[in-house]
Amino acid sequence: PPSKSPSFDLSNLSEIAERRTRKISATGANLKDWTPSSYRAREALQQPNYTDQSEIDAVLRHMEDLPPLVFAGESRKLQSQLANAANGNAFVLFGGDCAESFKEFRADNVRDTYRVLLQMAVVLMYGAGMPVVKLGRMAGQFAKPRSEDLETIDGVSLPSYRGDNINSCEFTPEARRPDPNRLIKAYDQSVSTLNLLRAFSNGGYAAMQRVSKWNLEFMQGSPKSAQYEKLAADVDRAIEFMHACGIDENHSVMNSTDFYTAHEALHLGYEESLTRLDSTTNDFYGCSAHFLWCGERTRQPEGAHMEYFRGISNPIGIKISDKSDGDGVVSLVKHLNPDNIPGRITLVSRMGAKALREHLPRLITAIEDANLNVLWVADPMHGNTIKTDNGFKTRPFESILEEVMAFFEVHEKMGTHPGGVHLEMTGQNVTECTGGSGNASVSQTDLELRYLTHCDPRLNASQAIELSFMMAQKLSE
Ligand code: PEP
Ligand code: MN
Repeated sequence: PPSKSPSFDLSNLSEIAERRTRKISATGANLKDWTPSSYRAREALQQPNYTDQSEIDAVLRHMEDLPPLVFAGESRKLQSQLANAANGNAFVLFGGDCAESFKEFRADNVRDTYRVLLQMAVVLMYGAGMPVVKLGRMAGQFAKPRSEDLETIDGVSLPSYRGDNINSCEFTPEARRPDPNRLIKAYDQSVSTLNLLRAFSNGGYAAMQRVSKWNLEFMQGSPKSAQYEKLAADVDRAIEFMHACGIDENHSVMNSTDFYTAHEALHLGYEESLTRLDSTTNDFYGCSAHFLWCGERTRQPEGAHMEYFRGISNPIGIKISDKSDGDGVVSLVKHLNPDNIPGRITLVSRMGAKALREHLPRLITAIEDANLNVLWVADPMHGNTIKTDNGFKTRPFESILEEVMAFFEVHEKMGTHPGGVHLEMTGQNVTECTGGSGNASVSQTDLELRYLTHCDPRLNASQAIELSFMMAQKLSE
């Protein structure tokens, strides 16, 4: 058998596995040979190395009794909207922190990122002339894959920081010890975050007229205002026109919106404990978020993560890089979606503009030749990370923009639909990615001013909104 990477000993969790199996056989789920714990027979990469087995067992048992964060019916609704996008009739906007953190958790921070996502969505909706499906990398985006298990500073080696739901980023033995209780804290924070997002989405905060006014305000401070002002004003006039038609601020399309959550389903114990049988369909759903994705580092076809993903009925995403081979991606998609259900699979390319122009066409061809239904989304962040001379991990705005534009152009050439973008961004005025226009532009020496991320560098509010204006212009051509 393959050697196990450092991970907590899954085989010891047999008691939980048995309880699960009993629950399942009592109800008879639709998928044969799969249980929420069947992944445990496989090699699980990127799991924390807990020191006390009984402690993690107790936490996961407790979590099994906690309420699910989302309802299966919501995930199905999202899946049908993603199917619409896969068919070329909608555009998808994913956005949020690389890693949510305990320290940065405040209502204002959630609100500001949510607000920027709405601002971007209105502009994109107008530019693309289609609905925009909004997904936050929020309310559960904690666990991070790391390239090394240990981090060494001045000859001292400690476990790598794996996200606030696992350990803490300070470089001390106590902070880096994986603490199972952090899973509960992450769950609680996710519940609060999702509660606020639901309230914003349905309580009037998301009213289209307000969002459009925010964009007009943003334009006034923007050095490129002449270029974008027309677009912002056009959106505003379109809303006035709808008003004139009788679709006023009391109409539900004007004063509420759908907003979904997504994260990388990396910590399998956490995901398993929130996996629930949907009583209306007898299917299992990962109820930690509406949409779950698997990163590039953990999507081995025989690995534990792919086994887990196979059995949940949520819409799911798979990250693909320029190293991916077409046959491998095709067989993985077939394995995860044997009935070729539209909206079930999103392929998230992350390779940098140059590699994308070279490699995305062959991956699209492989999928098209196999007649598979997938939604194509660009993650222009993870293929564009560089380290500056002064030691900051950053991403140039220009490279991010270039990858998005390359994604649009390749799909146009191939006759397929560029279905959406996946961004690491925040509503805060951080200095983590360089570039952007005019006064708001971030230089390499600015990076130290407000570099707050707990993992990868994020677009700040101005950079994210500017990117959405540029995408909207391109999509309207
Ligand atoms: C991420 O989305 O933060 C991430 C780790 O991505 P990838 O797996 O594509 O590197
Ligand atoms: Mn990241």
